[in-house]
Amino acid sequence: MTTVGTASAPPGEIDTGRIEVGEARDGSGVGLPVAVVNGAREGDTLYVQAASDGDELNGVGVVQRVVPQLDPAELAGTVVVVGIVNYHGFLVAQHRNPIDDTKLNRAFPGNPNGSSSERIAAATYDVASEADLILDLHQGSTSRMIDEVRVRCGRRHRLHRECLELAKTFGCGYVLDQKGPDGQLARVAPDDGIPTIDPELGGAVGWDESSIRTGVQGVFNVLRGYDFLDGDVTRTEQTRATGFDQYGSPSGGLVRFRADLGDEVGVGDTLFEVTDLFGGLKSRVAAESQGIFWRSRRLPQVASGEYVCSVATNVDTY
Ligand SMILES: [Zn+2]
Repeated sequence: MTTVGTASAPPGEIDTGRIEVGEARDGSGVGLPVAVVNGAREGDTLYVQAASDGDELNGVGVVQRVVPQLDPAELAGTVVVVGIVNYHGFLVAQHRNPIDDTKLNRAFPGNPNGSSSERIAAATYDVASEADLILDLHQGSTSRMIDEVRVRCGRRHRLHRECLELAKTFGCGYVLDQKGPDGQLARVAPDDGIPTIDPELGGAVGWDESSIRTGVQGVFNVLRGYDFLDGDVTRTEQTRATGFDQYGSPSGGLVRFRADLGDEVGVGDTLFEVTDLFGGLKSRVAAESQGIFWRSRRLPQVASGEYVCSVATNVDTY
């Protein structure tokens, strides 16, 4: 029997329930939705979570499609899925947890007696730290971003190779291999010996069909690649970047992009132009280093100094 929160499944069965994480402002209990898929055969445990950032819904879309497709009779091992981590943020479609204005993915491994975010991080990490592999589903918030997978443990970490291999198995095509900030699940869990990746499934307001499909495929690639399910997965070459250059606007006005997500850009290539309200050119911004056009703002209007786009740099393949 595998029990997580109120969900209990014997081998060959699935159950859903809640992981209790304290109480809301109205005094009612807060429970994160959890699914336990207990395979008929012995095997490893995969932990998947979504919406650690409350406005990042593509991961929720992935979970909502993956879970009904999992047949415990065909599964070796266990899949545990927490569908919404940033519960309070999700309810109001907000990135941070509004209870303590904290980004939840800076609060791991958490503290059961700490702030709201620390308590949620502790409750989920309790479950995640029992797993053999972790997928923490994210996206580039509501800005536009390519589908990529982040490896956050850092290149000198003892699990770096395993995390890269997991990213390659997930197989979005792009990998950001850059040590993350303190408190990220994808940084903390490798310290406890668990290969962990942070798939970043595009960037959208609401759901993006193409990124959700990429995420569903990625989860099944991992399930097949690590023998939870029968079948083979072809690990294809991934384009890897190890950093970003961020570009802001030199002037206020309306942005017109001259590069698309995924484009290779060279030094001096125009990334975007800013015009005034009547179409007059105010400024033109060119790439300062070679790389891949990776992420951009969604809204066209910018103030001087405001974020416009990112170019991933130091690109190679593996
Ligand atoms: Zn995120």
